[in-house]
Amino acid sequence: MKYYLIFAASVIFFLSSCQPKDTKWEGQEPIKKVSTLTRPIQYQLKQTFAVGNGIFLSNDFDGARLNGVALTGENEVTILITPENTPINESPWYAFKIWSETEKAIQLKITYNEGVGHRYYPKISNDAKNWTPVDSTVYLADTASVARGESPKFCEFTLAINSDTTWVAAQELIVSKDIYNWAGELSEKPFVSIDELGKSKEGRPINYLQIGNPESKKMLMVLSRQHPPEVTGWLAMKAFTEELCAIDELSEKFRDEYCIYVVPCVNPDGVDNGHWRHGAGGIDLNRDWEDFNQPETQAIRKFMQAKVAEQRKFYFIIDFHSTYEDIYYTIAPELKGNMPGIVPKIIQAMAEDIPGYDPNIRPNAADVERINSTVSVFHEFGAEAVTYEVGDDTPRELIKEKGKLTAVNLMEIMLEN
Ligand SMILES: [Zn+2]
Repeated sequence: MKYYLIFAASVIFFLSSCQPKDTKWEGQEPIKKVSTLTRPIQYQLKQTFAVGNGIFLSNDFDGARLNGVALTGENEVTILITPENTPINESPWYAFKIWSETEKAIQLKITYNEGVGHRYYPKISNDAKNWTPVDSTVYLADTASVARGESPKFCEFTLAINSDTTWVAAQELIVSKDIYNWAGELSEKPFVSIDELGKSKEGRPINYLQIGNPESKKMLMVLSRQHPPEVTGWLAMKAFTEELCAIDELSEKFRDEYCIYVVPCVNPDGVDNGHWRHGAGGIDLNRDWEDFNQPETQAIRKFMQAKVAEQRKFYFIIDFHSTYEDIYYTIAPELKGNMPGIVPKIIQAMAEDIPGYDPNIRPNAADVERINSTVSVFHEFGAEAVTYEVGDDTPRELIKEKGKLTAVNLMEIMLEN
């Protein structure tokens, strides 16, 4: 019976993913201005949960999110995931460890607070470094809701556990320590340095990389992880930045002419606390680029203002995010910044490089609220701007390739200007 249900679910899922592709996803609704004054968040109780039947779970690590757990059958474990506060965008992040005294197969059900839709396909790991998606033949996502045309409200799957730790997470677990280790390794190159531009609300460093010619009057800004679960955006940013650091003619020439600043983890509190969306101030940081009520956005803006005060200019900003499928949010084409036309040219070049790739581009209207990073930086500093959203399920090798090609095309096009 169970296999029949799984098969039926797969068929429904397959059919629902076979809608005609002639219309592209239109992206999110235009974002509206909201108060970004600090609001309280609920901290998770960090602990080991002994649920019975020799089964244990833990959320006692950076990036974890596990708010409640119950043994709901002999070998059935039901997880409850809740957000840091509400209202909040539906991007329920989860990450926890699980193990058992004896080897067994359990049915693991991930549920959320009422009304919240499941978003991330679960991944498992034995070392918190190498991740594999749960086998689709043992996976089921709330077929009743899906059949009604709604988002699934839970997912469940069979999981083999034993006395060794198994990690379960919404995406690959990459917390601020991992990000800063990566940045630290990169900074060993002679043309890269690392420094801190400020502190997060909870006092974590907001580090940045400086790549290229520090004397150059021409600067670029790169941002990532404003939204904690958006790991695929981070993976693209990583490949993008590594290409800027490549040892080849193009990258070397580019680094002679330009100075690039990379803030690889804008929201370290949110990342390390396993938040769905917000910083420790309980606010979506990417809505705080007009009022600057949060220390993270304040610090980045102050940093950029100080660089501009040295008679230098920002020509480009890219902010990496994740969403349901790859999409570029750009500035209204009639608005001209410090290097008009480069963003459409870069995206066009991407389309030519990747066979069959038809990029989804959504220019913001000219009168859009100036509350997100790229729109705000365009208006304050004149940097040509793009928010690059990477799909949650885009194959990781393709993400890497796109991140790299974005850098190659950016460098070629900016050097021609
Ligand atoms: Zn985002």
